[in-house]
Amino acid sequence: MRAVCWNGKREIRVENIPDPEIINLRDAIVKVELTAICGSDLHLYNGCIPTVKAGDVLGHEFLGEVVAVGSGVGNLRPGDRVAVPFPIACGNCYYCEHELFSLCDNSNPNGWMTETLYGQPTGGLFGYSHMLGGYAGGQAEYVRVPYADVGPVKISQELSAEKALFLTDIFPTGYQAAESCGIKPGDAVAVWGCGPVGQFAIQSAFLLGAEQVIAIDRIPERLEMVRVHSAAIALHYDNVDITEALLEITGGRGPDSCIDAVGLEAHGLGVAGWYDSTKHKLWLESDRPTALRQAIYACRKGGVVSIPGVYGGLIDKFPIGAAFAKGLTLRLGQTHVQKYARALLARIEAGDTDPSFIVTHRLPLEEAPTGYAIFNNKEDGCIKVVLKP
Ligand code: NAD
Ligand code: ZN
Repeated sequence: MRAVCWNGKREIRVENIPDPEIINLRDAIVKVELTAICGSDLHLYNGCIPTVKAGDVLGHEFLGEVVAVGSGVGNLRPGDRVAVPFPIACGNCYYCEHELFSLCDNSNPNGWMTETLYGQPTGGLFGYSHMLGGYAGGQAEYVRVPYADVGPVKISQELSAEKALFLTDIFPTGYQAAESCGIKPGDAVAVWGCGPVGQFAIQSAFLLGAEQVIAIDRIPERLEMVRVHSAAIALHYDNVDITEALLEITGGRGPDSCIDAVGLEAHGLGVAGWYDSTKHKLWLESDRPTALRQAIYACRKGGVVSIPGVYGGLIDKFPIGAAFAKGLTLRLGQTHVQKYARALLARIEAGDTDPSFIVTHRLPLEEAPTGYAIFNNKEDGCIKVVLKP
């Protein structure tokens, strides 16, 4: 089959590799109908995540047809159309039973790696390095889906693939980020980053009852997408002092909650930005936390800073004093997609929301290297690329 393979920093190739096979009773094989490139894939593309190897198949956002199931998968059969959550979860461990699916104790065969790095093993993800399981991803013609009786969500043949695909990651991710804010009527929520995750965090904050949402980025077409698809106030961070603007908009108090939908590759600003990028280049700091620092300083006292943006290692100049003095709550982590996907599917089916607005580029799988390059460089108005095998 054809698959999108990582071959080094910013080196993506579409290669011939063997078809996947059922190897465990609870596996299914899915023939991919549509897949997407995620901002998380860019961290791999840019060489920011360790333990990726040449030849690894990328991709964790995919939807397709079940073509084979192991004898332990009672709820799926060949012909079913499914959207597959990006975290792999067994459904039976302490964490799965508590709906903390991305922290599954059984799905990461290389759990010792994250245990060494982070103190405890974390769950496996599709197409996201060996420390997160070494699973082949979904930017391919076929994928092996472990614990297929737990994750995959059945999608009717009538629903368009572009409406259902983002249930696998970015829609639940934006939703969990907003839900973590504990939004109350009248609340103001600020969102750093207007990429796909930021766009869904903005939509979800309104769905959950926010009165005001303030969106921050510097890419004009992303700010424009915010204006067209939501009632949020869009701020260009090169043109305004974000902290001052947020105070002014919120009557001097600051946003009730702040969402960092940027993550470890934030563009730096001022002296701190220069400091981070220099240390990052020298491998003295793994992550660049510009947006996170701003969110902590801007948040009102007693507020929530919710962090869907991915961080991988260690950061410097983390304003723990400000977070402490202001009594902030920090909520973060990989999304527990299985917890949200079915309820969000019901909202899509009811016509309350249509996630396909995010798609700007539709390419054949063979053009994945171009897709990665334009999405990474934010060229050609690119906000979300879907790939068709
Ligand atoms: P993206 O790269 O398309 O978007 C990031 C946006 O942040 C860009 O528009 C960029 O211009 C903006 N940005 C950069 N620096 C900024 C700054 N200092 N202030 C404000 N905005 C800034 O990526 P995406 O697909 O939207 O993903 C965003 C983050 O969410 C990534 O870190 C990704 O890995 C992460 N993510 C996490 C989960 C999860 O489970 N928690 C799931 C999916 C994605
Ligand atoms: Zn993703």
